[in-house]
Amino acid sequence: MNLSQLQAALQELDTTPTRSLGQNFLHDQNLAAWTVDQLEIQRGDQWLEIGPGLGSLTEVARQRSPHGTLIEKDDRLIPYLRTHFRELTVVHGDASRFDVRDLFPAGPVKVFGNLPYYVSSQILFNFTGDATPVSGMIFTIQRELAERLAANPDSENYGAATVLIGRRWQIRLLRTLPPTVFLPVPKVESSVVSLTLRPGGELPDCDGARFNQLVKLGFSQRRKQLGKLLAPALPQWKEAAGQLGISPTARAEDLSIEQWCQLSDWSAEGPRPHQGQDVHGEIFDIVDADDQVIGQKSRQDAHSQKLRHRAVHIFLFNAKGEVYLQRRSRWKDVAPLLWDSSAAGHVNAGQDYDQTAPRELQEELGVTAALTLVKLIGASPETGHEFVALYEGIHEGPFQLPATEIECGEWFSPSLLDRWIGCRPGDFAPGFMACWKVWKDQRP
Ligand code: SAM
Repeated sequence: MNLSQLQAALQELDTTPTRSLGQNFLHDQNLAAWTVDQLEIQRGDQWLEIGPGLGSLTEVARQRSPHGTLIEKDDRLIPYLRTHFRELTVVHGDASRFDVRDLFPAGPVKVFGNLPYYVSSQILFNFTGDATPVSGMIFTIQRELAERLAANPDSENYGAATVLIGRRWQIRLLRTLPPTVFLPVPKVESSVVSLTLRPGGELPDCDGARFNQLVKLGFSQRRKQLGKLLAPALPQWKEAAGQLGISPTARAEDLSIEQWCQLSDWSAEGPRPHQGQDVHGEIFDIVDADDQVIGQKSRQDAHSQKLRHRAVHIFLFNAKGEVYLQRRSRWKDVAPLLWDSSAAGHVNAGQDYDQTAPRELQEELGVTAALTLVKLIGASPETGHEFVALYEGIHEGPFQLPATEIECGEWFSPSLLDRWIGCRPGDFAPGFMACWKVWKDQRP
């Protein structure tokens, strides 16, 4: 959209840009195409634009793929967007409050936008949570914010936002734009940044909730030393700093994102099943078609020889009726990165279902809860030849997730889950799918 097209659109709508909504419309077509093309949207890709305004970027993206969603807050623009971009989904709403979970059924989504300055940080945090279907993002934001996000440790710009978002996202400052490419001309400069998911293993694994807690505490008073600021959550600071090679007098900005990860993992509470656990050395009871014990075998033999053995799955629900799902770690030998029951695990030799369920809950989520048996599910190829005792319980979280076992976790309403399973069954571990079907039959 060039300047005269933009002015004509505003005239058609009989309106002017609203400052309180951060409306500075882009009228440089080359820049619009360049910005969108940083995401390499292919035909068939899902994409989402935040704050489409009059559609400068939208016009480019719709030519790359028709599977787009627009979130716009200004009600005056909604009919215009619906008329001009009929093939796209137009959502009238606030992107900083948009429920990102709704995007899971559509699959990985590329996100972009010339963000309204007044709410850019909130939008960024909303779209960079741990459990997100977003695969990459390009945003035009105020230059100062861009420099903060892409800052290096020990620099003035390095702050809580750099570290909180930088744990999972690699942030690159791509270019700075002059104010004159927008109508009206803003008083400040803008920069284009890209956010790409960090590959697994680039930073040490750690529990995201613990990381966020420590980083927020650490940056709460910039000039103070971490020893004092972290004391409520990490009384063993001196010991941790000594073991991790961090100066005991360090301040928050002295620690790299990698060191924040190490510190979070060092101080994680609760059992750590990944530490020293040799899953390959586990021994299971082997059972017959009536679930009677007929012998013992190693985990490896039980799986490779498809022998019947035992497992538990647990569904935890919150007061809203949402079920908590965990995303399996990328390091798992079975079903890596797939979504699974709240907690699940094998019954070890000599143990029974009722002993195993609370142990798994404690090991995987760090909590206890009263559990009720929903059903004992028969062994079949769908359950990986496991007899599965399915339990349910109530809990509101928060949970402590062992980082090398679980990538992240999230609450999902049963209706969203059903929609997601219908669209993308491959996103879920087979054992969970079998259990969810049974749970729905038992609790219609
Ligand atoms: N993408 C258009 C362009 O480049 O010309 C418009 C960009 S303008 C900087 C920001 C847009 O975000 C405006 O259309 C504004 O109405 C919209 N907006 C403001 N606050 C919003 C919010 N909380 N959620 C979604 N959109 C918002």
